[in-house]
Amino acid sequence: MSGFSFKKKNKIKYFTIDRFEDTGVVDHLFTTKDGGMSEGPFTSLNFGLNIGDLTDNIIENFTRISHVLDTSIDKMVLSNQIHETNIRIVKQEDMGKGLIKDRDYNSVDGLVTNIKGIALVTFFADCVPLFFLDPKNKVIGLAHAGWRGTVDKIGGKMLDILIKNFGCELDDILVGIGPSIGPCCYTVNEDVVNRFNTNFTNLNNVIKSTDEDSYHLDLWQANREVLKEKGIKGRNIIISKICTSCNNEILYSYRKENGSTGRMAAIIKLKE
Ligand SMILES: [Zn+2]
Repeated sequence: MSGFSFKKKNKIKYFTIDRFEDTGVVDHLFTTKDGGMSEGPFTSLNFGLNIGDLTDNIIENFTRISHVLDTSIDKMVLSNQIHETNIRIVKQEDMGKGLIKDRDYNSVDGLVTNIKGIALVTFFADCVPLFFLDPKNKVIGLAHAGWRGTVDKIGGKMLDILIKNFGCELDDILVGIGPSIGPCCYTVNEDVVNRFNTNFTNLNNVIKSTDEDSYHLDLWQANREVLKEKGIKGRNIIISKICTSCNNEILYSYRKENGSTGRMAAIIKLKE
């Protein structure tokens, strides 16, 4: 683990990014399995709606995490992830959408805002959480990057929005790459490798072949390449290097648990 810290508050265990904490402008975290109400394969801090867990338990989990973040569930705005690269610019009227209010949008794998007090929320169980922060302009973003979002460069799309829509400068932007399935445990087939070959120029640190016609894909490095391609300096990209599959006792892993598992949440908000 580098650049991330492991914390515990009210029995809830979670990670934060040191450089994000140091800015003093955001409250943020990446959750673990521990500290919630859910049972069975969802034990215990599941945030995934519509995957078979009881809604009452999930709402209680959201309420608990809102206390850790010094916010409330009516200020949260949830993604609707379908492995595409659409990013929603979140406005005041979106508060509560997806959780306590109906969501009037679909296909949102990224969220971005510069409005203080809004808590952006995205969901993970192996896919890569990308946290964005411009502490100078006070803009935040979250993106969900599985292999599809990674190969289609959702991280680069987020940077374009930060620069074009919010006037951010590249050198001011920090990006955190959170816990997700690591190259140690993530094998993919040739079709996936071909997609990466088409969209990437440098795959040296991204794909390593194994003996059995399968390949190890490093989604952390792939996302780092996407960000660096846009001009972000390496020192402003913080990679947790925490593998969800290797750490399955504390993190949900869709692959390790054959799809029967909960979802962790990445949450970030600008302090009011
Ligand atoms: Zn691993």
